[in-house]
Amino acid sequence: MKRMKALVYTSPNEMTYRDEPQPAPSSGEVLIRVDAVGICGSDMHAYHGRDPRRVPPLILGHEVAGEIIAGPGTGRQVTVNPLITCGHCEFCVQGRNNLCANRTMIGMTRAGGFAQYVTTAASSVIELPVGMSSRAASLTEPAATALHAIEKAKQAMVPTLPECNVLILGAGAIGLLAALLLKSYGCRRILLAEPNALRRESAQRTARCATYDPVQTSASPPDNSMELVLDAVGANATRRAALAAVKPGGVVVHVGLADAASEIDMRKLTLAEITLIGVYTYTTADLRAAVAALDSGAFGDLAWVEERSLADGAQAFRDLDQGRAAAAKIVLRP
Ligand SMILES: [Zn+2]
Ligand SMILES: [Zn+2]
Repeated sequence: MKRMKALVYTSPNEMTYRDEPQPAPSSGEVLIRVDAVGICGSDMHAYHGRDPRRVPPLILGHEVAGEIIAGPGTGRQVTVNPLITCGHCEFCVQGRNNLCANRTMIGMTRAGGFAQYVTTAASSVIELPVGMSSRAASLTEPAATALHAIEKAKQAMVPTLPECNVLILGAGAIGLLAALLLKSYGCRRILLAEPNALRRESAQRTARCATYDPVQTSASPPDNSMELVLDAVGANATRRAALAAVKPGGVVVHVGLADAASEIDMRKLTLAEITLIGVYTYTTADLRAAVAALDSGAFGDLAWVEERSLADGAQAFRDLDQGRAAAAKIVLRP
C-alpha cells in the first residue's frame, strides 16, 4: 500500500505529523493531490476535543485546493465542497444542499485534507478557473460561508447594503472575508469587533474598517445603531451584543456557533421586529460564486493569508490556540 504524509488529530490538543496509508478512491470518487489546505475554526474546535462528531485519530481539514490525479476529471485543478450531499433528498432538490439530510463531510465523517492526498465524491469537486492560485482557491469554503450569510441578510433587509451600518462580531476568517465582500458591495460603514489585538490590527490593515476590542465594553457601538449585525462567533456574549446593537427593523445573521444555547432578548426581537437568521455553511451555488469572487479579486489582495508547511502544522495549531497568530487564516502546504 502507498503511504503519504498527513497531519493527524491524535487526541485533544495533539496533532501528529506522520505516515498514513494513501487513500484509494472508490467508484464515483476522485483522488486529489492537495496543494493547499486552510485551518478552519471548526478544526480548532475539534483539536480542543469539543466536537463529538470529529473523533481521533482523524485527518482533519476541509478547505482544500489541489489537482485530481485519479477518477473523473483527472488533471483538473479543483477546490471541493467539503459536504458530500446525496443529490436526491428534498433539500438537495431545492438547491439547499447545505441542509442535505444524508450529508457527510471530509475532515469529519471521513479523512480530510491535512495530508498529501484526499479522496472525495466526484460530485463534490468544483473546477477552478485557469491560473487561479491554490492559496486563493483554499479560501473558497470560508469565503462561501461569508457569501451565504450576506445573501441571507440581503433577502431580509429593507435598506440596501451601501446604506447600512454593519457590525461584524469576530475578525477570524469568516468575519474578515465578510467585511471584504461587503466592501466590494459598496458598504462603507463597517465596524469589526475582535478581542485579539494582533487580529484587530491585521483586520484594520486588510479591510480598512474601524475595529474595537469588545472586552472594553465602553468601546461598543451604541444600542440600536446597526442595520445589520453578523455574529461570526456565536457565543452567549456576542449574541447579547448583536441583539443590543441592531436597529429596530434590522437583521442579525448568526454564523458562528461557539455556544449552543443562551437566553436572547425576545422582547426586543418582537417589539423592534428584528429578523434573526441562522445560517449554516453554503450551497454549491455559493461555493461557485465564492470561486468567481476570489478569482476576480472581489476579496482584494490575499497577502494577509499566512502559508506554512504541513510538516509544521502542529505548531500552527498551537499558535492559533494561544492567540499568537495575527493572520485570520493559516493555509498549510503539503
Ligand atoms: Zn472551514
Ligand atoms: Zn440530500
